[in-house]
Amino acid sequence: MTDTPTTPVKYRAIHLQAGRQRRVLHGHPWVYSNEVQMDTAAKAIPPGSPVRLLDPGGKPLGIATFNPHTLIAARMLSGDPATVVDHAFLAGRLRNAVAMRDALFDRPYYRVVHAEADGLPGLIVDRYGDVVTVQANSVFMDQRIDAILAAIDEVLAPRAVILRNDSTQRALEGLPEESRLVKGEIDGPIRLEENGATFFADPLGGQKTGWFYDQRDNRAFIAKLAKGKRAIDFFSYNGGFGVLCAVEGASSVVSVDRSQGALDNATRAAEANGVADRFEARRADAFNELERLNAEGETFEIVIADPPAFVKSKKDLAVGCRAYRKMTRLAAKITAPGGFLLCASCSHNVDPPTFAEQVARGLHDAGRTGRILRSAGAGPDHPVHPHLPESAYLKAIVMQLD
Ligand code: SAH
Repeated sequence: MTDTPTTPVKYRAIHLQAGRQRRVLHGHPWVYSNEVQMDTAAKAIPPGSPVRLLDPGGKPLGIATFNPHTLIAARMLSGDPATVVDHAFLAGRLRNAVAMRDALFDRPYYRVVHAEADGLPGLIVDRYGDVVTVQANSVFMDQRIDAILAAIDEVLAPRAVILRNDSTQRALEGLPEESRLVKGEIDGPIRLEENGATFFADPLGGQKTGWFYDQRDNRAFIAKLAKGKRAIDFFSYNGGFGVLCAVEGASSVVSVDRSQGALDNATRAAEANGVADRFEARRADAFNELERLNAEGETFEIVIADPPAFVKSKKDLAVGCRAYRKMTRLAAKITAPGGFLLCASCSHNVDPPTFAEQVARGLHDAGRTGRILRSAGAGPDHPVHPHLPESAYLKAIVMQLD
């Protein structure tokens, strides 16, 4: 695979403002709009265009995607100014991403592309065996969706492909929401494997969310502790934590979620893994159920709480932090002495120290003490760009309580 053009391609040029080249030279993949010489020519460049990024003196820094209307105006694609962003380029990046995952995992169930960290800013691809879901979160990726689908066909040869264009990032880029099947047929939930167990996800049905592969290692960790124990999994979604606890030998597991569709997928997974006799799907509001169990004094030796993002934007930070603290308090109170509690957050606006502080406060509010055994993020199929540590959005804290 080569990036060398057969015919020269001349992309339009974007100049950085004086003194603004350092971050890019040091490897940061973004340029903010106030760092670009945003003259009439730059403003007239159609959003989503590849551009040549030049330093203030006119020296080429590489090829970037450009959108004059967004806060992050340019996202680096390559430090090589001769790069041509064509099918071969996209397929090459995809091939590298797949090779890394295939070195990590025995089975084809993982996040294939995790945006910047895989050199494909704005693109998310998840793999469920021969079914693939694709999210294009930038104008650049959205405009090239046919080329991306062609690259996916070439590299992964999927039976079915679902476009899941329903992210909040798309709204920031002024792109519409849509979810649709672009290749093949899907009849009902799709099957996947994780940690040696079978699960089901429904990226086209009611919930349209697929599967959160990011918790794979955290699920394996807590499930190993669950043998012979009573477990409860709040915000269970399709059963990734709870069903694995049952598979690893928990004596009983309750999965709590307010979505019947999610609980149906969890129940189906319990059946497929032969643990349905030790599994209960309980449809309830998680906070109501936590309060109820507290009132009844019921305890569990394994308690898991991995909720949706409580802080969806910076303005929700204080309210969301209080919700993490309250969740931890209520969950800690139903954790049996010597038991294990996992609290997680996928809010990218809450950094790891802030989350750890809410968990510590919640524990104290509950009048409990304990120790942190594991403080972890997402699995390695969700790599982090070295210059974007803040993109490591997932936090999972596992504690043993006294
Ligand atoms: N723990 C899950 C991921 C959570 S996704 C996993 O391991 O995959 C968030 C889930 O929380 C969704 O299934 C949603 O239906 C559920 N949910 C959101 N708010 C809820 C609430 N107040 N009570 C119960 N479930 C809730």
